[in-house]
Amino acid sequence: MSVNYAAGLSPYADKGVCGLPEKFDSPEELKEKVQTLAELVKESQYLVVHTGAGISTSAGIPDFRGPKGVWTLEEKGESPHFDTTFEDARPSLTHMALLGLERAGYLKYLISQNVDGLHVRSGFPRDKLSELHGNMFVEECEKCGRQYVRDKVIGVMGLKPTGRFCSVVRSRGLRGCRGKLISTILDWEDALPDRDLNRADDASRKADLALTLGTSMQIKPSGDLPLLTKRKGGRIAIVNLQPTKHDKQAHLRIHGYVDEVMKQLMEQLGLDIPKWEGPVVHESSEVLPDIKPPHCISADGKVKKEEIKIERKREATQLTGEEDVKEEAGSVKKERADLTLLINEEK
Ligand SMILES: [Zn+2]
Repeated sequence: MSVNYAAGLSPYADKGVCGLPEKFDSPEELKEKVQTLAELVKESQYLVVHTGAGISTSAGIPDFRGPKGVWTLEEKGESPHFDTTFEDARPSLTHMALLGLERAGYLKYLISQNVDGLHVRSGFPRDKLSELHGNMFVEECEKCGRQYVRDKVIGVMGLKPTGRFCSVVRSRGLRGCRGKLISTILDWEDALPDRDLNRADDASRKADLALTLGTSMQIKPSGDLPLLTKRKGGRIAIVNLQPTKHDKQAHLRIHGYVDEVMKQLMEQLGLDIPKWEGPVVHESSEVLPDIKPPHCISADGKVKKEEIKIERKREATQLTGEEDVKEEAGSVKKERADLTLLINEEK
């Protein structure tokens, strides 16, 4: 299937700011900044990384708002160029470096807005990963929630039925689940997946360092999660060529290609970047997952329904760099709500 996933989404007017000029730090400046980043990573107790489309452009998958991004070209009436298919795309150096950081114990949790499936296919453990906008290779049972990671793209988007059924067999000879499987890919108006969002929210609050790679952070709520880390006393480090919505909140701002930054970072940390040997799926990491949201366990030890703590609506916000978010009754809301278009309010 073509990587033009965007073509399958509903028309949507406000896609945020597109096509802003890219900025490059000089080689000396970049080196110095990556040294600082390496120190921050070494000092951190709980590093969370946030990834956007910018980490997959070197894998041949176009981003959305870069100079050749899908929405940038759409504004000019042009079509994006695709070098690959989702099935053929290989994880980039950045994807593999993140796996190396996780194995070395630095990276505690990974939050991605990408739907290309490359984090999962790189072998990144799924119990330490939130895919907030879905995954082209994953379908989910609408009855029991069981997810199936396929080796081909599902080919259906917007949480619609895929035509397949759940094969979970219940114990003691009872009938199998047979629930309808649905795509996990969100369309504009769809709410984010509860489980992934709650875990991302918990990890962001726990983190003392939020590193964002290849995202302009214009899509809410995903783009605002690093601010939770800052509010809890942590730091934000941003790697992106274009300006981002939260540049003013950053402790460190690196303008460079993510692959170059990650290559230098791994050298600074004395870590090898794992080699990719074809698509794999790891459900969990070797070490015990430490993401166990305390609010999910009630006093009697039973797991209760997870509470939604931040707005689940997905929306694009304007890139002004001025706005901040504040916490109100447990939810993240923009102070300057006039700048946002609530895509869900009329539905
Ligand atoms: Zn099921």
